[in-house]
Amino acid sequence: MKSIARLIFAALAPLALSVHADEKVLNLYSARHYQTDEALYANFTQQTGIKINRIEGKEDELLERIKNEGSNSPADVFLTVDAARLAKAHELGLFAPVTSKVLDSRIPANLRTDDWFAFSKRARVIVYNKAGIKVEEVQTYDDLANPRLKGKLCSRSGSHPYNLSLMASVIAHEGEAKAEAWAQGMVANFARAPKGGDTDQIKAVAAGECGVALSNTYYVARLLRSTKPEEQKLMEKVGVVWPNQATTGTHINVSGGGMLKTAPHKEAAIKFLEYLASDDAQRYFADGNNEWPVVESVKVTNPALEALGKFKADSLPVKNLAMYQIKAQMIFDRAGFK
Ligand code: FE
Repeated sequence: MKSIARLIFAALAPLALSVHADEKVLNLYSARHYQTDEALYANFTQQTGIKINRIEGKEDELLERIKNEGSNSPADVFLTVDAARLAKAHELGLFAPVTSKVLDSRIPANLRTDDWFAFSKRARVIVYNKAGIKVEEVQTYDDLANPRLKGKLCSRSGSHPYNLSLMASVIAHEGEAKAEAWAQGMVANFARAPKGGDTDQIKAVAAGECGVALSNTYYVARLLRSTKPEEQKLMEKVGVVWPNQATTGTHINVSGGGMLKTAPHKEAAIKFLEYLASDDAQRYFADGNNEWPVVESVKVTNPALEALGKFKADSLPVKNLAMYQIKAQMIFDRAGFK
């Protein structure tokens, strides 16, 4: 039922969206939908008088939709999660280059490209079963491929953007040959065929079905903040490690967005992107999903993130994550990491 409603909505919505450049309107296609977003958008309208029309959908569906709408697309700004998807929008030639002193000065150089910008950061961490695994055994991403973890690794699909972006970072740091050996080592260690999302892996680790898995930090934070007693109990069994602290740092992925080439309201679009880099917006944007702001001077007080502690992040440019997506998929395919 839900998907039918979405389809109808998808078919009708473009007619309702303004494509007139002179109107104070912004058409936002967003794969983000958190409770705090209402306040985030209302605040922009209050500051600028620009009304926001929001089309929300799943990440890949929205990208597909913009592609299909082509030059008739009413979309001004596309927001999504993961460097791989942002890179795909770039590859498809959907984004327009944006020159903005505000964005250049507020967003660190490794977290932006010429046509898309990161607005929040998430880290990919190791979660392990405290009763079954020694913490010293799981200090790096490389450790996940070590034969001593045979039969203990659980994972989501190797085709998922989160794993592709991590693999892209491994290729960038260590080269293709080592990356391929890493993929093969992980496949040899699987406790079960890849399935489910990050939360499913954490739960399987807690249940002892697997000893170790990878997860984005906001899934860990969500469970840590849970008020459900069964989830609190679950998390008592799970340890969290920041991988690669002695070397490259923990892999960072982003959520972000850019202005579309066909945007009917380009001025509003740039204003909106700049707004997302403002102090207030950064706090809303990151905190809504238990992530970190990209603007370094912005401090967030989020108990779940504070509980996770401080860590050394990989400083690899997001551009490089984008560059190796196809290679990453080929390596996972060859290794049989489905
Ligand atoms: Fe996610």
